[in-house]
Amino acid sequence: MKITKQTPPSEILDLGHNCKQCGHCCSLGSGFLVGDDIKKIARFMKITEKELAEKYLDEKELFNTRLSRPKLITQGKPYGRCIFLKDKRCSIHQVKPFQCRVGNCNENGEELSIWFTLNFLVNTEDPESVRQYAAYLKSGGKTIEGGKLEELIPDKEKLKKILSFEEFK
Ligand code: SF4
Ligand code: SF4
Repeated sequence: MKITKQTPPSEILDLGHNCKQCGHCCSLGSGFLVGDDIKKIARFMKITEKELAEKYLDEKELFNTRLSRPKLITQGKPYGRCIFLKDKRCSIHQVKPFQCRVGNCNENGEELSIWFTLNFLVNTEDPESVRQYAAYLKSGGKTIEGGKLEELIPDKEKLKKILSFEEFK
């Protein structure tokens, strides 16, 4: 199946269904929460959304967009295991964050990661987000159909202004 920026989330999640729950990716990081993930996880854990955010989540910024993710147990390293990983298993598997459900360890992993980046991190309404994505592409970063700069910002003049810092907001 060809994955493009426009592929619907339902089809993307179908591709992630082959997670074997081995816990490998969860030992090195955690997945971003989007949509109603916070609500669902809080309900599953029988705690308030505030308590969930304070005790178990932090935020990470990528492409000038901040999203919540489960905290990492880093022990002084730049990476770490997800706070929800218990006995090598996800303790919130039934309601795990959207990005965890997308998965990234199958043959479509790279495209799935780019799909997530394009749909949840690169913000075409934010010139700085577009510039950071342009820098990613310039440094050799891959993309998928619908993710070229001229596809994201079809107005050539606008794109030029964004990239030359003439447009800030
Ligand atoms: S998505 Fe993570 S936990 Fe699931 S099979 Fe792949 S590496 Fe293992
Ligand atoms: S929430 Fe679960 S699936 Fe996601 S990184 Fe943490 S342990 Fe892994």
